[in-house]
This record gives sequence, C-alpha cells and structure tokens, in this order.
Amino acid sequence: MTEFANRSAIVTGGARGIGAAVVAELVKAGLGVVIADLLTDDGTALAETFAPQARFHHLDVTDEEEWSRVLEETEREFGPLAALVNNAGILDYGTVESESPDLFRHVLDVNLFGPWLGMRLAAPRLRAAGGGIIVNISSTAGLMGYAGISGYVASKWGLRGLTKAAALELGSSDIRVCSVHPGPIHTAMTLGMDESIAATQPLPRFGEPEEVAAMVRFLVTEATFSTGSEFVVDGGATTGQ
Ligand code: NDP
Repeated sequence: MTEFANRSAIVTGGARGIGAAVVAELVKAGLGVVIADLLTDDGTALAETFAPQARFHHLDVTDEEEWSRVLEETEREFGPLAALVNNAGILDYGTVESESPDLFRHVLDVNLFGPWLGMRLAAPRLRAAGGGIIVNISSTAGLMGYAGISGYVASKWGLRGLTKAAALELGSSDIRVCSVHPGPIHTAMTLGMDESIAATQPLPRFGEPEEVAAMVRFLVTEATFSTGSEFVVDGGATTGQ
C-alpha cells in the first residue's frame, strides 16, 4: 500500500508466534518493519526472509534505553513511525496464593510496564509523523478471569485499561490505540496445552497466528475511525460470558 511507503512499524516479540505473523502482514502492507525481540537467532532469520523491508533489533521491553535505541534506529532505517504493536508477552502459572511475588512482578513488568514504556516513547514520534496507531495484544484473559494464571490475567486487564487511557489522551494527535484479545492460538506459548479447552467454543479449535495478524493488519491499515476499542479474535470463546 503506497500510503505506508517510507513509514515504519515495530512489532515487539516479533521473532515468532503471533508477532511473526504480524510482521508478515505489515510487510505486505508496505511498511518497513522492525522485529524487536529477545530472540536474536529467530528474529534475524525472519528479518532475512523479508529483507530489505524488515530488520531485527534486540529489545527487552522492560528496558527504557533499549526502547529509545530501537525507536531511533527504526525511524533512521525505515522512516517515521506509523505503528507500534505491543505483542511481546509471557505466561505465568500460579494462583493468587501460590505464585511467587517475583514472578507476579515479572509478568506485570513484561506484559504491562513494557507496553507502557513503548507507548510513552513512541507517542511523540507518532505525533511528529502526523499520527499512527498503537496496537496492544491483550488476551481473552483481559476480558474475563482464569484460575491459575493470576499475574497474566492482571497484566492483560491492565493492558486493556492502559489502551483506553492512552486512546483518550492521544486521539487529538490522530494516534489511535486499540487492544486485540486472542483466544487460544497455536504458538510456543500454548504448546502442550490440552486442546479440549477449546471444545465448547462456537468455533471449537485453537486459532492460528495468521488469524490474529489479519486483525492487526486491519487495525493498522483500514480501521481509521477506531480507537480505544477491544477487538476479539477468540473463536467465540467469550461470547457467552
Ligand atoms: P510466544 O511465546 O510464541 O512469543 C512471544 C515472543 O515474545 C517470544 O519471541 C519471546 O521471546 C518474546 N518476549 C518475551 N519476553 C520479552 C521481552 N521482555 N522483551 C521482548 N520480547 C520478549 O507468544 P505468542 O505469540 O503466543 O504470544 C504473543 C502475544 O499474544 C503475547 O502477548 C500473548 O500474551 C498474547 N496472547 C497469546 C495467546 C496464545 O494462545 N498464544 C492468546 C492470547 C494472547 P522469549 O522466547 O525469549 O521469551
């Protein structure tokens, strides 16, 4: 799409899974895409398949200095920022009583503080570029509760709330902020999970990363009047809630 010629995007956690599928969609849309991840080997290999339209940069989303460097290099390589996709995330296991305080804090750090850091550093660049979008990958765990993943649920509800606050603050700069809420998707994160958990969904299966990525591409390229909203990609899992 020509409207994105000389504009850039960053996908955190873009080296594999849902993030990698988002990278492929945004490259197709014409953006220069930075894959920002901890996984250097996977990220570099993926960038090579889309060269010269994609580059890998190491990013720990909890590290402010790394964010600044990645944002700087993204705009230098591919032009003004058009989209930030806060996709990197981790899953914890533990009830409110059993989870260690360190693990709970770490999950909030990666899944909520990281996207907040990225948003606050990306916002001035998006504003200077005349607008753009921030897509936060939350979860159905940001729409309802689940037992046994308490830190994850708290972080994903937090990310949904952060989306709404930022949408209110940034709309006047033509910066849209939306959250995407996938149900169970086939990735490394769900490897080994019992697939029967999807059996009672209207669409009784796990989704594929490409099915989430298609929603993200729609939000970036088409949904010009949507901000502050939740976009659910869950096979109907939350429909009866
Ligand atoms: P994956 O585990 O397959 O990929 C996540 C990527 O993020 C990995 O490359 C991982 O690297 C990276 N990452 C982890 N921590 C950091 C960090 N601190 N800084 C930068 N990158 C990091 O996950 P999915 O593709 O399944 O998930 C992507 C997003 O979608 C997550 O936010 C997840 O919560 C959400 N989601 C996933 C669902 C699913 O069923 N798969 C359902 C609902 C939401 P490393 O391996 O080194 O940790």
